Amino acid sequence: MNYIPTIGLEIHAELKTKSKMFCACANDPLEQHPNLNICPICMGHPGTLPVANEEAIKKVIKVGLALNCRIARYSKFDRKNYFYPDLPKGYQISQYDMPLCQKGYLEIDGKKIDITRIHLEEDTGKLIHPAGADYSLVDFNRAGVPLMELVTEPDITNAKQARQFAQEFQLILRYLGVSDADMEKGQMRVEANVSVRPEGQENLGTKVEVKNLNSFRSVERAIEFEIKRQIKATESGQKIVQETRGWNDAKGETFSQREKEEAHDYRYFPEPDLPPLSFGDEYIERLRFELPELPQARRERFGREYGLSEKAVEVFVANKDIGEFFEKAISELGPGIPKDRLQKLIQLSANYIISDLMGLLEGAGVEGEDFLITPENFAELVVLIEEGKISSAIAKAVLKEMFATGADPDHVIADKGLSQIADKASVEKIAREIIEKNPKAVQDFQQGKTTALQFLIGQMMAATKGTISPDLANQTLRSLLAN
Ligand code: ADP
Ligand code: ZN
Ligand code: MG
Repeated sequence: MNYIPTIGLEIHAELKTKSKMFCACANDPLEQHPNLNICPICMGHPGTLPVANEEAIKKVIKVGLALNCRIARYSKFDRKNYFYPDLPKGYQISQYDMPLCQKGYLEIDGKKIDITRIHLEEDTGKLIHPAGADYSLVDFNRAGVPLMELVTEPDITNAKQARQFAQEFQLILRYLGVSDADMEKGQMRVEANVSVRPEGQENLGTKVEVKNLNSFRSVERAIEFEIKRQIKATESGQKIVQETRGWNDAKGETFSQREKEEAHDYRYFPEPDLPPLSFGDEYIERLRFELPELPQARRERFGREYGLSEKAVEVFVANKDIGEFFEKAISELGPGIPKDRLQKLIQLSANYIISDLMGLLEGAGVEGEDFLITPENFAELVVLIEEGKISSAIAKAVLKEMFATGADPDHVIADKGLSQIADKASVEKIAREIIEKNPKAVQDFQQGKTTALQFLIGQMMAATKGTISPDLANQTLRSLLAN
């Protein structure tokens, strides 16, 4: 029997705003000191009144616009009532039947995954369970932080697609600047609803919700595990129960946590302390106007304009700041460069950014565009390489120094004595030695084997520790061997 998996995702993301959702406390995810950013409002003291954070509302609408949603012209907040020690008010302000955004989609590899809704709510505090202690601690700095929730239709058909959806959504949040959406830091949390049904059956099977997935890898692994588990259980005649399961990353297994609660368990009702919201077309159009170029558009444009490989394009799209650095560097190459040469320079720039600069960034633990090399200096370096003025070994050393000090390539080359062995006589001397030591290769070359010349060039590069350019080695060998 063949089984068809069905997956729907629920994704929470903490919004990047100055203040919390309903009070003036700082929204600072980096605050280490517990219970510093709290006030009577986010602590739920009697008699306090919430005020909605407009910036958070705007950010959610932007996400909705980026995901092709219908934006509500009329919306409201609701109370979701439940008790938990990290929820001081005894209820969470959320949105029930009138979310800010509805009915959108996101395309993954050409397939439209429908989005049911995106709504706005507030985050809870954080419980801390010290190892070995018989008590728990609670930090309310996070209580009341604006939190958006996206819900997809059950349109996803495999684990990899679910992972891709979550990754693309994270990129969109980052491009929009609405959330850092770091899964390891809990700024983005993915819950996966999974069911299976036998091929031919129309109704979807009973779904299970998997929580505590804190990396993209766990999203994919947990869904894969769950599909297999459900198929196995169904095959052996067991019934799948609707429940919430956790994910044990070390064991690579999901485990039962609790039976799923229903919406009516929460006794939702309209939040009486907040007025309903209404939005005019102009308000929404103004937000649409503020949308930046989104990942998919950038993907297409980079492929079209720069003729890069799909892999290179993906590196630049996934690392937004690096992609922008690449574009700035390219724009420094100046007008009037013949097309062929420009293409070569673009390709060289992409290669040096992806294989060398990004390595340096990673080694130094630098994120984003927080590094010293200017696009202009980087472009100069690439031109030096392309003109054959420096070898790739020197280029790497120069780049390393530029990265450390922010100096321009000409100065680095001069100051560090990294310049090539420039005088003709010494290059020729080395070439003669190589020719003498490799009579077989010389003979092969003279009989028309071009690979033999490559070998001799390699020998020269090795003998000079890469301080001459392959072009210079090539020219010198050819002219000596021609005589
Ligand atoms: P609930 O009322 O239990 O919260 P919803 O209908 O709101 O269920 O759906 C919650 C999530 O579960 C959505 O992402 C939805 O796409 C997904 N989902 C619903 N039914 C199924 C199913 N049978 N299999 C997999 N996912 C499902
Ligand atoms: Zn507060
Ligand atoms: Mg639901």
